[in-house]
Amino acid sequence: MKAATPRRLKAFVCSRLRLSAYLSAPGDGRPQGQIPARVLLWAQLAGLLLRETSFHAIEALVRSRARAALGVGRRFGDDALAYFTERLAPAPTRLALVSILRHSKRNKAFDTARFLGLALDGTGVARCRQQRCRLCHPVQDSQQQISSYVHHFSLISVVGHEELTLPFDVEPYGPKDSEAAASRRLLERAVQHLGPRFADYVVADGLYATAPFLHLAGELGLYAIVRLKANLPTLYQQAQTRLLDTPPTQVFSIGRDRIEAWDADDFDPWDSLPWPTVRVLRYRQHRPDGTVCEAYWRSSASCASVWLAPSRPIPVNRPHGRSSPRVSRRRPKPIVTLFPDSRDLAAQK
Ligand SMILES: [Zn+2]
Repeated sequence: MKAATPRRLKAFVCSRLRLSAYLSAPGDGRPQGQIPARVLLWAQLAGLLLRETSFHAIEALVRSRARAALGVGRRFGDDALAYFTERLAPAPTRLALVSILRHSKRNKAFDTARFLGLALDGTGVARCRQQRCRLCHPVQDSQQQISSYVHHFSLISVVGHEELTLPFDVEPYGPKDSEAAASRRLLERAVQHLGPRFADYVVADGLYATAPFLHLAGELGLYAIVRLKANLPTLYQQAQTRLLDTPPTQVFSIGRDRIEAWDADDFDPWDSLPWPTVRVLRYRQHRPDGTVCEAYWRSSASCASVWLAPSRPIPVNRPHGRSSPRVSRRRPKPIVTLFPDSRDLAAQK
């Protein structure tokens, strides 16, 4: 087997991942770029591989004797890289990442995952001392003084495969915006790009236990699984009262961990959620070292057994005045489990 080198990786990216067109035209917004976009973009990707991500470090790399081995055609300075990156349109990069995911799915890269999910979460990058743009969020120190600024994003990843967690898009949001709103925009765009049948569910933390988010997930044809914490105190308390002292619905193993799962689907919805009932899953994982990990999840999918969606339809609530959903909704389909079913694990043995 040939050793992995940046040049071989570049050939793989261009031919097998079919990204040659993207590398040549990644959304270059410079009116008159002297150095080809392909050179600047590949230098950044090679820098990422070598964990040299600052523009200054990449300049040092392409001015060194390593440049030819990296497959970077020309020398350039860090100012050229900054000028290029500032003007790079995000859309072509988003579409290139989505094309890799779709290509991977067609080539059965995710086939060992029973269900594919989309995970949403907030993240922050690019801390700086001065406010530089409308996306800068002030960061306060312990004396409530602004000490620096940071950029916030919602991040979406493909999850569900044991070994692959693949972040593929971000949506920035400024101080007057919110993670919840940015994540709704991001989820909608992701499903439009990936297609309505790419993923089965969306998973997120307790911040997303809101009616607008759950409506959107249903409208996009996704089962929603969100963490239930004290953010919905009434439901959380009801779930604890009901599920704490009852035997688990299922007990099964994942590797050496023993999992107990509880599933109840007849909790009352809260005011703004016009669902007939709400399903709550409780999950307790016992590790061999004696530690226990526990969580409550509110879900529109069952962890217990096979059931057909038409008998318990995912509520779909379309905005008033909208004649058709933004993304064509799938027919309800059978869903099995999001956690392994004990019978399936027994069958594998
Ligand atoms: Zn900024």
